[in-house]
Amino acid sequence: MTTRREVAQWLTASLAAAGLARARARDDAKEDAKADVVVVGAGAFGAWTAKALLDRGRRVVLIDAYGPGNSLSSSGDQSRISRSNYGANALYAEWAAKSREAWLALERRARTPVFVPSGVAAFDKAASREVAAALEVLRQLRIPIEQLSPGRAMQRFPQFHVEADETVLYEPHGGTLYARAALQALVADMRGPRFKYRLDAVRPPEVTQDLESIETASGARIAASEFVFACGPWLPKLFPQLLGRRIRSIRAEAYFLRIPPGSRLYEASAMPTWMDNCVPDAFGMPDLEARGCKVAVDVAEPPMDPDSGDRRPTAEFGDAVRAYVRRRIPGLADAPVAEARVCQYEMTPNEDYLLDRHPGALNVWIAGGGSGHGYKNGPMVGQYMAGLIERRVQPIAAFTFAAHPAE
Ligand SMILES: Cc1cc2nc3c(=O)[nH]c(=O)nc-3n(C[C@H](O)[C@H](O)[C@H](O)COP(=O)(O)OP(=O)(O)OC[C@H]3O[C@@H](n4cnc5c(N)ncnc54)[C@H](O)[C@@H]3O)c2cc1C
Repeated sequence: MTTRREVAQWLTASLAAAGLARARARDDAKEDAKADVVVVGAGAFGAWTAKALLDRGRRVVLIDAYGPGNSLSSSGDQSRISRSNYGANALYAEWAAKSREAWLALERRARTPVFVPSGVAAFDKAASREVAAALEVLRQLRIPIEQLSPGRAMQRFPQFHVEADETVLYEPHGGTLYARAALQALVADMRGPRFKYRLDAVRPPEVTQDLESIETASGARIAASEFVFACGPWLPKLFPQLLGRRIRSIRAEAYFLRIPPGSRLYEASAMPTWMDNCVPDAFGMPDLEARGCKVAVDVAEPPMDPDSGDRRPTAEFGDAVRAYVRRRIPGLADAPVAEARVCQYEMTPNEDYLLDRHPGALNVWIAGGGSGHGYKNGPMVGQYMAGLIERRVQPIAAFTFAAHPAE
């Protein structure tokens, strides 16, 4: 039975806790009052934007509703491909090479695995114009690239079957990023008096003129001079009018296939990460963290709400992965599924990123539309956003609202 004394003790403890919470909120508000920039979203785009601003001496508050690299976010998967082979697109190729250096620097600073030097193989039709264009761009940028005939490719990477009319571009400096772990390491690395990370959800702002502050679900109001919204697939939920017809969130499923017991053939030292341009949006990674070989194939583009979408894997995607693996990786044709996970892409119609000022305010910025290839370029997106905010870089036409008309 509870005694009066126990009730009194409980009440005192509760009041003390409430007082502490109020004091903490006051402290938070005080620290936030000093912010130059609030960055909303600690995915690859937001976390690297915060880092670039911090490195330029800005006081930054980074806010995320679920945490950096959380399971719902696009950046929250186990792994992402880092490659410079972007066909004819020299800008993304260059950004990927520069970003790679930043990921490697993070790995050294954080002393945690970030980049797996697995190399990246790209399967293409030999006659594809993109192959010739990629070779040209990468040679100009002095990024190592090797073209392998089907026979040579299967000799070097016996995991794969390559058809006679296909070719393989192998990028030895390409690799695989530990997506979730790297972001958590990045945010942990941003310590210091000018940086504050908050776990909180920002309410959709009404942008009718320059923004003075944002409001969060916990009731905090945070003022700053500039605001960056890097909310990935949530962007259309925060700005339905502006982005509802510019960014689409669609479902993706990734499967981890069990490798044959005791086999070393699927380790990253023997098998490259790959992307398959002969099959729409198929890609995969070697066995990392003993989770199995990761394979994904996009079969359709069902819409996916990042908060409430059903994250149970479906037979439709699973069957497509099985059919694909039977053709491309015969040794895993019947490999059992060890794990599967559901994620979502945040696509723009032309698949270029959207990195621009909000058309309704001078101090509100949008960083999103990674379109299935944004993770690796997080470091350069961050540099570019910081440059835009400081009015030090010329906007790149491909990333502007003008290049992304509402569909
Ligand atoms: C299956 C799949 C495979 C991919 N493969 C590759 C690849 O191999 N290589 C590559 O480079 N890219 C790849 N991508 C794309 C890449 O993952 C994304 O482009 C990138 O991760 C997007 O990062 P982001 O920061 O824009 O969004 P996110 O990572 O989704 O981050 C947005 C953040 O905003 C937060 N947030 C949202 N709303 C609020 C709010 N109201 N208040 C506070 N916080 C909020 C979320 O919690 C989240 O953490 C792939 C994507 C998918 C889905």
